[in-house]
Amino acid sequence: MSSSDALPPSSSSPAKLTGSCHCGRVTLELPSKPTKINECRCSICYRYGALWAYYPRNEVLVTAKEPGLKSYLRDDPECSKDIGFYLCGHCGCLTHWWGLEGAGRGGESAKMGVNTRILGEKGIEGVERHIGYK
Ligand SMILES: [Zn+2]
Repeated sequence: MSSSDALPPSSSSPAKLTGSCHCGRVTLELPSKPTKINECRCSICYRYGALWAYYPRNEVLVTAKEPGLKSYLRDDPECSKDIGFYLCGHCGCLTHWWGLEGAGRGGESAKMGVNTRILGEKGIEGVERHIGYK
């Protein structure tokens, strides 16, 4: 046994991960690789084809260059929360959602969903997947 049991090059912080939309104008920096992915089959996520990982909202850095993000507010009765879905204003990739602050139905403002499709195939290789409905 050698003593070089390969640890990644020294860094005290856990490996951050950056994903982006197709054109690269929108990037999300995640605190760590997702440990679980939810293939949500609610009425909207099924259509989007998104694969979600959930993070505390204050741990994800969202950056958007011109023309910025577009949003779609989900406020239909099927969903118990008011949620904003965000897409790149240029290439249209869905990158994330979060609960809207102060929304009447108590959007989960501390949590957000990141569409792990933006990490590319390699970024989510081997991560456990679930099928959920919310
Ligand atoms: Zn884009």
